Amino acid sequence: RENRGKLPRYPGLERWILIEKMGDGAFSNVYRAKDSLGELGEVAIKVVRKYELSSSQRANILKEVQIMRQLNHPNIVKLISFSESRSYYYIILELCPGGELFHQIVRLTYFSEPLSRHVIKQVAEALQYLHEEKGVVHRDIKPENLLFEPIPFMPSKTPKPRNPNDEDKVDEGEFVPGVGAGGIGRIKIADFGLSKVVWDSVTMTPCGTVGYTAPEIVKDERYSKSVDMWALGCVLYTLLCGFPPFYDESISVLTEKVARGQYTFLSPWWDEISKSAQDLVSHLLTVDPDKRYSIEQFMEHPWIRESDEETHPAA
Ligand code: ADP
Ligand code: MG
Repeated sequence: RENRGKLPRYPGLERWILIEKMGDGAFSNVYRAKDSLGELGEVAIKVVRKYELSSSQRANILKEVQIMRQLNHPNIVKLISFSESRSYYYIILELCPGGELFHQIVRLTYFSEPLSRHVIKQVAEALQYLHEEKGVVHRDIKPENLLFEPIPFMPSKTPKPRNPNDEDKVDEGEFVPGVGAGGIGRIKIADFGLSKVVWDSVTMTPCGTVGYTAPEIVKDERYSKSVDMWALGCVLYTLLCGFPPFYDESISVLTEKVARGQYTFLSPWWDEISKSAQDLVSHLLTVDPDKRYSIEQFMEHPWIRESDEETHPAA
């Protein structure tokens, strides 16, 4: 699988042996690489093309790195180091070889309730750390930015299709998730490219102000956290049924649907999904940010607190 010959060489990145390209974005390529010194093992390297960026976009990359430096949580991709050459920024990251949650949804069609809970809880734990301990809002939570860590995600069976009319999907019985070897790996939030610090975690005050903070700034902070909660609702909806809550070919129609919070628990796909799961989704996909669930409320919801014991009893 190594195709070193075809991969580019970057000045200043000589320590790392590129193994394969794992992803690409508008201004960056992400590679899997290994340490030629053998000290750090495998990593992911996000190579950003500086010359295609405006000065404010460059500042955003530096901000992304600055924010990641302050973070230390098992469900957040760790920054290993950062360097640059004349033309590139090199962001060296903890490797998540399991790839994007997005691909796993595509592969499995949708996730069972226990597996959805297992995944969304980890995302929520990372959000709780970001929102409550670090004053950071991510602002780009989506299945492409949620990555699986080393433990291979290898269910032996695909889940039963919920729609009885879907004849092309074979029924191979229920997939029971496990957390250890052979089960599902830990999930990590990546891509802090749009993230923002809303309050100072040292002084515990909204950013840049002490004591003279206007109400709209305090509100703004609360609103930006609720942006992540809406996105969490979209991810949970998508996990449970396999398609997103809001979709339209036309961007303007889609925008209107989102603005109105116009989504449904579409039959037959949602028929067998518990009312409790639907209740949680609806508290996240609430248009009024003041009424939308906060991370604390999410954690307290019965569907989240429910144990998975019935599905996979403790060994
Ligand atoms: P962009 O701003 O271009 O979306 P991302 O940081 O999201 O940049 O990286 C783009 C893609 O590269 C991700 O969606 C993922 O597929 C892959 N990727 C990024 N970081 C890692 C990592 N640490 N481990 C494995 N794959 C990664
Ligand atoms: Mg991304």
